[in-house]
Amino acid sequence: MNDMQFPVYRGHLEYRCLGCGARHGIDALLYTCPACGGVLLLEDTGFEKLKEYSGAAWRQVFDSRAGTRNSALRGIFRFYELMAPVLEQEDIIYLGEGNTPIIEASPALQNNVGARFAFKNDGQNPSASFKDRGMACAFSYVKALARKQQWDSVLTICASTGDTSAAAALYAAYVGKPVTSVVLLPRGRVTPQQLSQPLGSGAMVLEMPGVFDDCMKVVEILASRYRVALLNSKNSWRILGQESYAYEAAQWYGWDLAETAFFVPVGNAGNITAIMSGLLKLYALGIIETLPRIFGVQSAHADPVYRYYAQEPTTRRYEPVAVTASAAQAAMIGNPVSFPRVQFLAERYLELAGADSFQVVRVSEQAIMDSMLEANRHGHIACTQGGECLAGLRVALAAGLMRPGERALLDATAHALKFADFQSMYFTDSFPPEYGIRAKQERVNAPRLVLSPEARETMSREEYINAAAGAVAAALELQERQ
Ligand SMILES: *Cc1c(COP(=O)(O)O)cnc(C)c1O
Ligand SMILES: [Zn+2]
Repeated sequence: MNDMQFPVYRGHLEYRCLGCGARHGIDALLYTCPACGGVLLLEDTGFEKLKEYSGAAWRQVFDSRAGTRNSALRGIFRFYELMAPVLEQEDIIYLGEGNTPIIEASPALQNNVGARFAFKNDGQNPSASFKDRGMACAFSYVKALARKQQWDSVLTICASTGDTSAAAALYAAYVGKPVTSVVLLPRGRVTPQQLSQPLGSGAMVLEMPGVFDDCMKVVEILASRYRVALLNSKNSWRILGQESYAYEAAQWYGWDLAETAFFVPVGNAGNITAIMSGLLKLYALGIIETLPRIFGVQSAHADPVYRYYAQEPTTRRYEPVAVTASAAQAAMIGNPVSFPRVQFLAERYLELAGADSFQVVRVSEQAIMDSMLEANRHGHIACTQGGECLAGLRVALAAGLMRPGERALLDATAHALKFADFQSMYFTDSFPPEYGIRAKQERVNAPRLVLSPEARETMSREEYINAAAGAVAAALELQERQ
């Protein structure tokens, strides 16, 4: 096949409600089920047709697209037929999302941890988190709808722990007319870097006191009463786009995910939903022959999904939790909106891949920070949630949950730079007590002033530069050249 050519296959996508089972057409921008308020998943009712091609044929199609110069196929839509095969080439927005590198953990770090593992650096997406995958898909769909229905304005809105709003504002800014973007943030609960992103993209930024779960409730009310396009991960178009993580990982490993365990931080549970959904599609088409194991990871300060799966299967009950301060702030969610999706997909996953193929582990706040800093000291760019994954791998190893020789793929969901303030609080040992995080001296790093500000004022420029060179040499205990 010509790798520049846009795919000809078109599917028949429908919203499927996980609450009442109703199906709804995709001509309307649905956020939840109009019949029962349940969460939706998008399903291609033509999916069976894709089975007319063998797994090997699909592998070849996707491999041949890997080097394409057609920008509509360069990002997440390399896997077009598996994701949103209703979009036309002209609707697809590509800002360089997806195709993020999988970086083998440094040998010293693998040695410290005692396992074979790698990070998938989703912080190398355009707005520096995996949320761009979902936004690229959701905005492509919004753009298609606006074109077909000739809308002259579309107001997009989302509640956010920081990264959703950064991604939504970026894509909205790129699309421009008729799309505008509003983001609703819990005041003081997103980092300054994350706040700077929607501001820089020109979105209207609204803040309210409280935590993410409060913002989410407000957004739900808006969704039920007003005409706005909601871009939280309850929006099933985002889930579709985020499936690309699973496709890319499978492709990178030569479509062989045997003896592999994925570690995924869980907040609203959209990401883990998408990854499982994507893997199940690959498996259904014979593109992969073995499903990898999935470990969800949650902080002890925001652990409703962990608590649910820790109970006896026959009597377990889901209950939201009240969150407390977490360094894994992007996952600090007590009532994940995608929980019903996780339940639905985990059941299928466990059926197909065995009893221990889906698990959730819980980690301490201290371990999250220690693991992030340790990873980054070994040349990685993990955010606090990436640190959470590494902490999760350690918990799994300590509990004997990893198999001998099994490799782990850790989702480093955002770039470390977004969470610079957490690093800084650690380095100055100034975490507010509710986090329960103390600095370990061996991990602390700080700039060292080599000359006093007075020196700058009292010396000539030449004297000062010479004195500074001397001070640097003294600090490094350099020997003078002969
Ligand atoms: C959103 C986010 C998460 C949590 O993902 P969910 O889909 O909400 O479970 C984790 N890490 C980062 C960096 C995020 O932005
Ligand atoms: Zn319903």
